[in-house]
Amino acid sequence: MNRPRYVGRFAPSPSGPLHAGSLVAAMASYLDARAHGGQWLLRIEDVDEARAVPGAAEEIRDCLLAFGMRWDGDVVWQSRRKKRYAAAFARLESHTFPCGCTRREIADSRLSTGLPLSAGGDSGLLYPGNCRNGLAEGKSARAFRLRVPDPGQPDELVCFDDRWQGRICQHLASESGDFILKRADGFWAYQLAVVVDDAAQQVSDVVRGADLIDSTARQIHLQRLLGLPTPRYLHVPVVCNAEGEKLSKQTGARALDMSRPLPALRQAASTLRLEIDAATVPSFWEKATAAWGARFV
Ligand code: GLU
Repeated sequence: MNRPRYVGRFAPSPSGPLHAGSLVAAMASYLDARAHGGQWLLRIEDVDEARAVPGAAEEIRDCLLAFGMRWDGDVVWQSRRKKRYAAAFARLESHTFPCGCTRREIADSRLSTGLPLSAGGDSGLLYPGNCRNGLAEGKSARAFRLRVPDPGQPDELVCFDDRWQGRICQHLASESGDFILKRADGFWAYQLAVVVDDAAQQVSDVVRGADLIDSTARQIHLQRLLGLPTPRYLHVPVVCNAEGEKLSKQTGARALDMSRPLPALRQAASTLRLEIDAATVPSFWEKATAAWGARFV
């Protein structure tokens, strides 16, 4: 029997160089692709060009190569794919509405209705639906949001079987809220770009950090509205600093030392619960791929 074709990807945002946290996501997606005999693609998620740091994407590429991770095919850049996002957005038109609220207004209206402030929606604020039925007079659109199904509607609950975390379910109305697809200044939201690109690149398996697990239900909902296939998902543990915050450039993560890959590779593997004893980078990957395959393939 032919195995279904496996396509995985690593999709870093070029906001800084790779660090110990992003290496774990890169490693997990690479190992899963290699253990399945599949392809591993590299997509630079520079859709928010204001956050992209010049030179960071090149540094990420050099670092992957120095650490022995070679991608298949050409690197894809989100900043060059805006036409595709616009086409998907046009297809979603009947589900979207312009929103004129600032973050402050969203926070204030949640407080005044006694609703919890956050539930993992855009930038942590659950949108209370202020502009759902039209923009208030004098307001102009700051963003375009996707109207999620109302509570109790069958498609409002989204569930998936995560290959690491098990079954995950999310109520879109109470845990995500109507979410942004496009800002009025032209920026495409991550949620839309990632769904369009995963489908265009025929990604069969998304392997990434568990910090993105809350986004997955929104992405599956978008796939369904656009008639796109849903990939399998696997969310790996994230690395935290001493204060328990997710390691990132903002929380003080240091760039990886490209001249000494083995210690960082071993450390990342141990976050994935793989204890790999290897004297060279090629033998590290050989052993790690076999260990990952024994667990997940
Ligand atoms: N660009 C996202 C990040 O760097 C990852 C997106 C994804 O893997 O879906 O956090």
